[in-house]
Amino acid sequence: MPLRVTFLGTAGAIPTTERNPSAIFVAREGEKLLFDAGEGTQRQMMRFGTGFSVSHLFVTHLHGDHVLGIPGLLQTMDFNDREEPLAIHTPAGTRRELKGLVNALGNRPSFPVRINEVGDGDVAYRADEYEVRAFATDHDARSVGYALVEDDRKGRFDRERAEELGVPVGPKFSKLHEGEPVELEDGTVVDPDQVVGDPRPGRVIVYTGDTRPAAATVEAAEEPDLLIHDATFADDRADRAAETAHSTARQAAEIANRAGADRLALMHLSSRYAGQTDAHLEQAREVFAGDETDAFVPDDGQALDIPYPDGEAE
Ligand SMILES: [Zn+2]
Ligand SMILES: [Zn+2]
Repeated sequence: MPLRVTFLGTAGAIPTTERNPSAIFVAREGEKLLFDAGEGTQRQMMRFGTGFSVSHLFVTHLHGDHVLGIPGLLQTMDFNDREEPLAIHTPAGTRRELKGLVNALGNRPSFPVRINEVGDGDVAYRADEYEVRAFATDHDARSVGYALVEDDRKGRFDRERAEELGVPVGPKFSKLHEGEPVELEDGTVVDPDQVVGDPRPGRVIVYTGDTRPAAATVEAAEEPDLLIHDATFADDRADRAAETAHSTARQAAEIANRAGADRLALMHLSSRYAGQTDAHLEQAREVFAGDETDAFVPDDGQALDIPYPDGEAE
């Protein structure tokens, strides 16, 4: 099952000609999720072909560079006669401000908009095969990060072994794979654990939004396949990162290490580094790099398909 992340906006507080403010689009099966919506997000969605059929928007905090795209995006959805409901998840205590954005200039979306406040540890959204959890971050605003965590997948079905045991090909196969014992014609009972392997882990994506390096990010989810972390500054501005409640690329890499992440996307680069990503990459890779791991600075529009940890297609 494809799980695709598209980086719609990777800039820090001030956009550059190359980078839009924060927005990350995630498509899983037919479902489309958006994390933050900085100014101009709707145009990035057009440029990079994601479409507008987002069912959930997850807001990390209400600084303008993460939410000023909401009024325009909702207005366009309205012009497009959208009818499907939209859920917007936002940190506890920000409902009023968020509502102000939804209803900016007296706009009243014709489709239902549900606002859901979330705090550390809350499941913001429970879907069929995954959930999106909120976790605490350390920023100078009410803020959370989000972890998309897929459920374990069923263990692999050992077809050969099932046939050896005399299970006839057909519905009994799926019954066993679903975890139910089956009885054969001679009265023998075959249990699922005889033919089904251990559950296999799903995929995990963690997105911090703006934050200082924080233990809660490490605890948000085990061994993320992709950690998308604040890396506003390089080492030369480490003091500035601490003052403004952001992280350096090196600090993001340390968190990625502690979390056991596979890949680290360095996000939210300050406009002072416009066009220059060498220092970020170099400093992150001093801490976080290996055969199975890597840090990168995504470009706007870059898309990434996340494979299952065991490398299998489903
Ligand atoms: Zn920001
Ligand atoms: Zn911020």
